[in-house]
Amino acid sequence: MKIIRTLYDMTEYRVRQRDRGASVGFVPTMGALHEGHMSLVEKAVKENEVVVVSLFVNPIQFNNAEDFEKYPRTEEEDFKLLAAAGVDAVFAPTASEMYPAENDNCKEYKLGNVAEVMEGKYRPGHFQGVARVLDILFRLVNPHRAYFGEKDFQQIAVVRNLIKSEGLNVEIVACPIKRAADGLALSSRNARLDSEQRQLAPEIYATLKYSVEYSKDHSVQATHDTVVERIDAIPGMKVEYFEIVDARTLQTVDEWEESNWIVGCITVYCGEVRLIDNITYRLPN
Ligand code: AMP
Repeated sequence: MKIIRTLYDMTEYRVRQRDRGASVGFVPTMGALHEGHMSLVEKAVKENEVVVVSLFVNPIQFNNAEDFEKYPRTEEEDFKLLAAAGVDAVFAPTASEMYPAENDNCKEYKLGNVAEVMEGKYRPGHFQGVARVLDILFRLVNPHRAYFGEKDFQQIAVVRNLIKSEGLNVEIVACPIKRAADGLALSSRNARLDSEQRQLAPEIYATLKYSVEYSKDHSVQATHDTVVERIDAIPGMKVEYFEIVDARTLQTVDEWEESNWIVGCITVYCGEVRLIDNITYRLPN
C-alpha cells in the first residue's frame, strides 16, 4: 500500500491509474478508523480496481476548537487496517499541504437548503469546510465512485449538491450505518466516552428504534417529543436537536403522510462528546 503525503504525489499516482484505465474508488475519512469506515472500504475494494482512502482531520470543518484537538488520531493503526483490507493508496496530507497560506480559501459553495438545517444550523461553517475539503480531494483523486456512510445522513445530501454545483463527475455510493452489538452507531468519537457514558450511549439507538413502533399510532410531534424526553431523562445526556424530516429535502414534516421517505436525525451530547445517529420511519417501496 502506497502512503502519499503531498498533492504532487497524489496527482502523479492518480494520473498513472487513470492512464492504465483502472476504475478508482475513493473513501474520504478523518481516520481513527473503525468497522464503520472499514465497511465503506470493503465495498470500495469489491467494486473498483484501485482504492484510495484519505486520512485527514479537516480543521476547517470543526466549529469547536476543543473537538478538533481531542479528535482521536491513530494513523499507524489505520495504515495497518487499510493495508490488510487491500487498499492501494492512502492519502494522508498535513493541513498546510491541503490549505497553503497563499491559496484563497474563502470561496462560498452553493449547497442548497439541505445544508441550512440540522448540522448546518448547529455547526455554522461545518458544511462549507466539508465542501472545501471534498472539492480539493475529488479534483485530486478524481475517482469514479466515492463512498459515504448514512450515519452522516445529511452530509450525503450536501455532497450530492456539491457535485452538481461544482460540475464534478463522481458517483456517490451511500453505505448503511454500522453499529456495535449493543446498537450504538460506531464513531471515532466513541473513543472519548468514559465507561459509564459508553454503557448509556446505546440508549440513543434503543430510543430511536422504540420510536418507530410508537410512531405507528402517534403523530410526528408526539414521536418527536417522546424521543427528546426519553433521551434527556438519561443522566449526562442532552439532545441538541432531533428532527423528523423528508429524506430528500431534509425539511421537517408535520404529518407522516407528507412523504414516502422519512428519517429522524438526532444529535446528542453525552457529557462533552457529540454523537449523531438517525433512523428511518418510512421508506419508498
Ligand atoms: P469520518 O471519518 O467520521 O469523517 O467518516 C468517514 C466516513 O465514514 C463518512 O462517510 C462517514 O459517514 C462514514 N462512517 C462513519 N461512521 C460510520 C458508521 N458507523 N457506519 C457507516 N459509515 C460510517
